[in-house]
Amino acid sequence: MLYRSIGKTGMSASIIGLGTEHLDRKPYQLCQEVIDAALEAGINIMDLFMPGTAVRENIGRALKGRRTKVLIQGHIGSVEKNGQYHRTRDVAVCRQYFENLLRSLNTDYIDFGMMYFVDTEEDYKGVFETEYIDYVLKLKEEGKIRAIGVSSHNPKTAAKVVETGLIDLLMFALNPAYDMLSADISLEDAMEGKLDPSQYETINPDRYYLYKLCESRGVAITTMKTLGAGKLLSPDFSPFQKPLTAAQCIHYALTRPAVVSTLIGCSTKEHVLEAVSYLSLSDEAKDFSEIIKAGRGSLSGQCMYCNHCLPCPAEIDIAATLRLLDIALLDASSISEGVRQQYNDLQHTAAACIECGNCEERCPFDVPVIEHMHRAVELFGN
Ligand code: SF4
Ligand code: SF4
Repeated sequence: MLYRSIGKTGMSASIIGLGTEHLDRKPYQLCQEVIDAALEAGINIMDLFMPGTAVRENIGRALKGRRTKVLIQGHIGSVEKNGQYHRTRDVAVCRQYFENLLRSLNTDYIDFGMMYFVDTEEDYKGVFETEYIDYVLKLKEEGKIRAIGVSSHNPKTAAKVVETGLIDLLMFALNPAYDMLSADISLEDAMEGKLDPSQYETINPDRYYLYKLCESRGVAITTMKTLGAGKLLSPDFSPFQKPLTAAQCIHYALTRPAVVSTLIGCSTKEHVLEAVSYLSLSDEAKDFSEIIKAGRGSLSGQCMYCNHCLPCPAEIDIAATLRLLDIALLDASSISEGVRQQYNDLQHTAAACIECGNCEERCPFDVPVIEHMHRAVELFGN
């Protein structure tokens, strides 16, 4: 397993994480098998948004004696109403469900207290203009949560939350289809397979701005809907000419700025093993560039961080270099220390480019790499 640092928290997450939604309303035995398989594979982060006591207790029981081996994203304001998941900002109700979460898991802390489902302006106000945020801050002060996170599907609202400077972690719905949707199209329609291919245009600027903003602010992203609820793997629903594989979807997510972990919903131990098999695949097996390029011709000039252009004779990690350049260009006059550090940590920086042009010939997205290498040297100084 590989691990990535979660911003400034001092915690590190496995790049493959566990989504537990499919364990809801399932027998304990299954829950234990999935959690055993995940921990044995080195998975150390899981999301638990479900409000039901039974599934929380099952997970707590399966984790008995191993609580410290896993980082838990627990959601504040995820409640049950008429048998359905529902969100509330009512502090009394949030407290009741949060205390139940601690009790059910038999723990006295949650690693990431996630402000649940902050998508709309109304959600934003419900969080930041009410006592809800005071409650969340108090939980952190008391050590009942170690860090504050948020879950969202909306890039504009999520960016606004990141700008508050209060969060360390964003759980975001992220996959290549969502990233290429025009800003005015709903994710729900996309998930229902109701869109025709022309509605998938180019990189959605709001979403890419969000990823870069997170990285520049030291906010880590964990992803949900990485496989588009399985639809990206289906020839009937994939908006690209071919379905993607799970490994290609995972690789896409893990190569976006700020992403530390993809949380894959698993309902069997075989699903866990399939998800972690990503780690042993070749670069070719993970490469998503040709499928996305074949489906969408309009991505020209935008680096997709796919590294399809390697090998580079100067051994530059081209995708990592261009990712850091993109983040730096958010505000070239004040590049964050973290981004500068990451750039300086590269084994070979842009200054090593010998302008052979091999990468530009290989890039499926017509990225003017040499020009970008010059810009990187200008901005970072090496
Ligand atoms: S320059 Fe092209 S091939 Fe290389 S990482 Fe970017 S998009 Fe991929
Ligand atoms: S042009 Fe520069 S970055 Fe591209 S392959 Fe050649 S040396 Fe590497």
